[in-house]
Amino acid sequence: MNPLEVHVVGGGLAGSEVVFYLASRGHTVFLHEMRPKKMTEVHKTSFFSELVCSNSFKSMDLTNAEGLLKAEMQLLGSVNLKCAYENRIPAGKALAVDREKFSKCVTEEILKTGVKVIREEITEIDPKDGEIWVIATGPATSDKLAEFLKKLTGTEHMFFFDAAAPIVEKDSIDMDKAFIADRYGKGTGDHINCPLTEEEYDKFWHELVNAEVIPMEDFDKKLLFERCKPVEDIARSGKDALRYGPMKPVGLIDPKTGREPFAVVQLRKDNIEGTLYNIVGFQTRLKWGEQKRVFRMIPCLRNAEFARYGVVHRNIYINAPAVLDPYLRLKQNPKIFFAGQIVGVEGYMESAAAGLYVAFNIDRILNRKDPLTFPRNTMIGALLYYITEGVRGNLRPMYANFGLLPKLTQRAKSKYERRKKLSMRAIENMKKFLRGAI
Ligand SMILES: Cc1cc2nc3c(=O)[nH]c(=O)nc-3n(C[C@H](O)[C@H](O)[C@H](O)COP(=O)(O)OP(=O)(O)OC[C@H]3O[C@@H](n4cnc5c(N)ncnc54)[C@H](O)[C@@H]3O)c2cc1C
Repeated sequence: MNPLEVHVVGGGLAGSEVVFYLASRGHTVFLHEMRPKKMTEVHKTSFFSELVCSNSFKSMDLTNAEGLLKAEMQLLGSVNLKCAYENRIPAGKALAVDREKFSKCVTEEILKTGVKVIREEITEIDPKDGEIWVIATGPATSDKLAEFLKKLTGTEHMFFFDAAAPIVEKDSIDMDKAFIADRYGKGTGDHINCPLTEEEYDKFWHELVNAEVIPMEDFDKKLLFERCKPVEDIARSGKDALRYGPMKPVGLIDPKTGREPFAVVQLRKDNIEGTLYNIVGFQTRLKWGEQKRVFRMIPCLRNAEFARYGVVHRNIYINAPAVLDPYLRLKQNPKIFFAGQIVGVEGYMESAAAGLYVAFNIDRILNRKDPLTFPRNTMIGALLYYITEGVRGNLRPMYANFGLLPKLTQRAKSKYERRKKLSMRAIENMKKFLRGAI
């Protein structure tokens, strides 16, 4: 039997997109949202698309990955963007909103579609014939549902904490100051090593221990394991602690000197294409501006472009490469989709974009067409490819960045020209793709 009803769990940034897209196209949609009956630790209202922290959707500029993401979402008819533009407040090149008016607007737009809203906590999911379910319950998924999802996906595929090191674009690493080698020569040359002299290390250590950090909530502290201790905390335990931890030089010979350096920062490939590298062992709670300032003191990273900054915080997400197919459906049960931050994207707009992608494919399925992946050279296509197939090693939540996109065939004169060209190519491809697909 073909599915006739869509049930969406969670009316956040992602769920709102799914519901609006499908209900506006005449499909029967139910939205199950537990607020205000049961609140999360971070939400305060009963509105859909509530912004739990900043009121900014970041840049609108096409030389910024977030700007490109928005341009693509607009082509898909994003309800979050529509309401954001209607309730915008001045913030330079960024799209900032009056948070209350924004969420009210999304709520009204959704209610206008005729969607059936049920205010209840969903604790288990077992789609009946004729149903598709979308789980869009976000980083603060309720405990009972999280427990159920742990059983559904397998304990090892459900994460409750996100301790991620920064990721840099390969092209921005100064290879004149680095060397490729694996410890004791064991491996396949996957590591780029950034050596530091004693003087460079001392300066770096001093700035690191004094840098500004994001304060840690109590519930975060409870979940912080020794193995994902932030790099600045390791550094604070003693001047040499990093040289015996993530910056240890043993087994690494710098071909320029024929010796082990005083200290080494290792970078490891983060995606299959090798365009992104993560700074091994550098999970951190430093503020983003501080990460840029302090980590650029590492000689081979002095011009580093950060594809994503490091974090250590509570965040519920699933191991998408293991449990989801490229359309964000559960491999073991294609009647269950996931959308939003729970699939391993991070950020308001990224979560919403994942919702649009899922809605686009459910619409196709309801119209008896095969689901499609978005072109890899679009930002949404590249981001979702990364989290379902392209990531190397464990999935760490990812946000939009230019390092995810395949390279241009011609050289660009500057970083800004390169980004603009990448954006133009992405928008053209998205337009072409949608003309044939919707
Ligand atoms: C504390 C915090 C601060 C953040 N700050 C920012 C920021 O400043 N900028 C940024 O870009 N991103 C931020 N994020 C990341 C992320 O982009 C947002 O959390 C975003 O809202 C995720 O969208 P979503 O739709 O996946 O989930 P959400 O927007 O959280 O929506 C999930 C919805 O599901 C509902 N729900 C949960 N469990 C159930 C259940 N069992 N049954 C029914 N309903 C349920 C919730 O009530 C909620 O409405 C932050 C995340 C957190 C946790």
